[in-house]
Amino acid sequence: MKNIVVIGGGMLGLSISLELSDHGVNVTNVFPRTGDTLSASRAAGAMLGAFGELSADDGAEEMAEFDFRLSAQRYYPAWLARVRERSGARVSQVEGTIIIANNQGARDRDCIRRMEQEAVLRGEPAEWIEPSDVPGLKPSPVHAPALCLHLKNEHAVNSGELLDAMELALGRCNTYRHLDKSVLRASPDGLSWAVALSDGTTLVADAVVLANGSRSLECLDPSLVEDAALPALSFGKGVSCLISGGPAIAHTIRTPNRTFACGIHLVPRPESGELYLGATNFTGVDEMAERKVQPGELHGLFDEAIHQINTDIRTSRIEQIRVGFRPIAAFKRPLVGQTRVPNLYIATGTYRNGVLMAPLVAAMIASELGLCVSPYQGNPFSVLTEQKQNGWDVERLLDVGVRDLVAFIQEPRSPLPYSRARELETYLRTLLQAAVYQDASGESLHAMIQSRLKEAPFNETVHKLFYEVGDQARKPAAETAEV
Ligand SMILES: Cc1cc2nc3c(=O)[nH]c(=O)nc-3n(C[C@H](O)[C@H](O)[C@H](O)COP(=O)(O)OP(=O)(O)OC[C@H]3O[C@@H](n4cnc5c(N)ncnc54)[C@H](O)[C@@H]3O)c2cc1C
Repeated sequence: MKNIVVIGGGMLGLSISLELSDHGVNVTNVFPRTGDTLSASRAAGAMLGAFGELSADDGAEEMAEFDFRLSAQRYYPAWLARVRERSGARVSQVEGTIIIANNQGARDRDCIRRMEQEAVLRGEPAEWIEPSDVPGLKPSPVHAPALCLHLKNEHAVNSGELLDAMELALGRCNTYRHLDKSVLRASPDGLSWAVALSDGTTLVADAVVLANGSRSLECLDPSLVEDAALPALSFGKGVSCLISGGPAIAHTIRTPNRTFACGIHLVPRPESGELYLGATNFTGVDEMAERKVQPGELHGLFDEAIHQINTDIRTSRIEQIRVGFRPIAAFKRPLVGQTRVPNLYIATGTYRNGVLMAPLVAAMIASELGLCVSPYQGNPFSVLTEQKQNGWDVERLLDVGVRDLVAFIQEPRSPLPYSRARELETYLRTLLQAAVYQDASGESLHAMIQSRLKEAPFNETVHKLFYEVGDQARKPAAETAEV
């Protein structure tokens, strides 16, 4: 393959362009530099989090991704050194992450313990430390963390500097050219590809790599998406901020993942004296409709950071607010490598971990193009294999989803009294299961609710049903149920 078009100029597009150019391929990298403010890569806190992204419920599918993340984390230092050397540019890195677990996160303690166990198993440093020994940690007393874990090898980079450095390195490479345009359509033409651009011109290439984030499928005709057996893409909108005049912190401080998002985190940017504060997560499919920031998103972000990390954040100054769209594919599984359509490759679906994964993904793409031996054995994210929902059966999806939903309902500061959060979980899960499955337990629930409402037709019955529905919680018979 001599001429390859790489679509996208985020972490994925640039890492892949760099890798392919290094192997002597003529790369035409198409992405709009001007006016594109929605790149996930530029909005990212860019934590290189293998362990910090673990959740207590992670099953086989997530652990396969975790293994990849850990390899990507170990691959990073040499790769980053190469980018720095090739570009001659600064790419700042903050060493180490402190994970904090408090009572605000329903599963914080389970998550942090899982992180520690997995780190010990894999010979990575993980040390319990006293909250008072964490530089810059000063939460409201009611939100004091119960546990703090120092992950010394879990760093963060400045993603803006990194992207700029990659562009500089690529600019020095005579097998690379950037076109400041958008791709409208990529279509096969025999074994070659015709790539139609926004200025009306068309490129001809031997292969195309789709690496334009959450919009990676928009350049293909829908019939081609089907031929390539590519699952639909959506996004997780993320809002983050840069603040100045905040407290001095030495390492990244973050909570575990919570309520459909990556927890609250503060990443120091010593090079500018600023702090990065992230991040929200809300899924959707229409980037243009969601490109603006909602006050509620900022409210949630700052409420958590001020109360759970450092109360002095309230007197800092907001320097920048960013929005980015994390690419998500079915089962939250990345999509990497050759597709079923000849000479069409994809690298996306990296969701919350694209900055970390990009360099290793780029090496895998180069290896699938026959340019090198992959530093990672196998491809857990291949789109050639059948997309299985390992570890994400409907039962588990409802379980984890309802639990996170109930936690989300209580954010940022309205915890439910008594045991109502757990009761609400049971209630919602039971109703949702009855709605999803067509089986005997759904029918008996339906009959029970009907008969109660008939027996006692007044609103107080709904209160009673809150408990009675919970008592009817389904037995684990879902495997045999029809969905
Ligand atoms: C708030 C936030 C925090 C995050 N924190 C972390 C973190 O701490 N650690 C981590 O590893 N990951 C993090 N992520 C996730 C990570 O940023 C993403 O997984 C990763 O950046 C995705 O990179 P990408 O190159 O695929 O997409 P993007 O960065 O979104 O880039 C897409 C590129 O494609 C271009 N493009 C789009 N359409 C076209 C077209 N038609 N033609 C040409 N070009 C096109 C765009 O202009 C852009 O250059 C975070 C994301 C967000 C939003």
